[in-house]
Amino acid sequence: MKAATIHQHGGLECVQVEDDFPEPEPGRGEVLIDVKAAALNHLDIWVREGSRELDVEKPLVLGSDAAGTVAGLGPETHGWREGDEVVLNPGLSCGCCEFCMRGEHSECSSFGVIGMTRQGTFAERVVVPAANLFAKPAHLSFTQAAALPLSHLTAWRMLASRAELQAGESVLIHGIGGGVALAGLQIAKMIGAETVVTSSSDSKLHRAREMGADHLLNYKEVDELADHVVEAVGGRGVDVAFDTVGEETWPVDFAAVRKGGRIVLCGITTGPIARTNLQQLYWRQLTVMGTTLGSHEDMRQLLRAVDVERLEPVVDSVEPLEHAQDAMRRMQERRQFGKIVLEIGE
Ligand code: ZN
Repeated sequence: MKAATIHQHGGLECVQVEDDFPEPEPGRGEVLIDVKAAALNHLDIWVREGSRELDVEKPLVLGSDAAGTVAGLGPETHGWREGDEVVLNPGLSCGCCEFCMRGEHSECSSFGVIGMTRQGTFAERVVVPAANLFAKPAHLSFTQAAALPLSHLTAWRMLASRAELQAGESVLIHGIGGGVALAGLQIAKMIGAETVVTSSSDSKLHRAREMGADHLLNYKEVDELADHVVEAVGGRGVDVAFDTVGEETWPVDFAAVRKGGRIVLCGITTGPIARTNLQQLYWRQLTVMGTTLGSHEDMRQLLRAVDVERLEPVVDSVEPLEHAQDAMRRMQERRQFGKIVLEIGE
């Protein structure tokens, strides 16, 4: 089968599209999926570079997100039939540890991700545990559905499950244009929150405005970003800071939230090491939350909300699988607004 793989870690040149990568076979409790579309994530860069000391099997098929149809079931696998249209929860959990038993699958002691700790989705076929499959929302195309899981599941857990964002509260979202940030904007609007979004690109801010963002800040054009955030929400500070950026935005989060505010972080695209003023943390009674992907229950809630609200993820561009390397370059250069999706198969 065709697949975009790496045989060793390194730059974009490591990504190759092979024509005869071995077909996977579903084992007990697993399902074979005909992949129709697969979306790129920043995680693909970490995995390719090996920069997080990830111990991955090689050659490895990249890719965590996918939408497709069920093509076969392994032994003793129930709940799905051939032809069912599905999306994946990319998070892999054991299902039987203390944390899985509580339903907190992304806190699993052996947590992994499709395309990182097992073969990924940038291929004509992928095998995944049946527990990771969910019905594709009927109003979404395969391309749109593939753009949903990793970014929207992450954002859903950040805002709905962890920060417990309420209608009428305000949220600061950094780096609008990235998949998780845009998902955060959509979910914050769905909840009924006031949104402050930042970017270095006026055109990305303009597009965020069209999606309903309330306050726009070009961080390249203002001196003290946090002051402008506070001012935008009437001088009191935001209730929640939603951070996918890390090192560069961490001090802004602390200065921009109100007393008693919440800071929720899921990514570190600008780096992992930040300084925290601990006096600010306790005197201002702040709550800091880290979060990764989501549980199966987060995924179920997200898909229900997507269905009810007819939410459509923002797709930046669609490329054939053969252009995987160019697609990854576009993401790495941060030119995208929304998800870059690979179309797979005919
Ligand atoms: Zn577990």
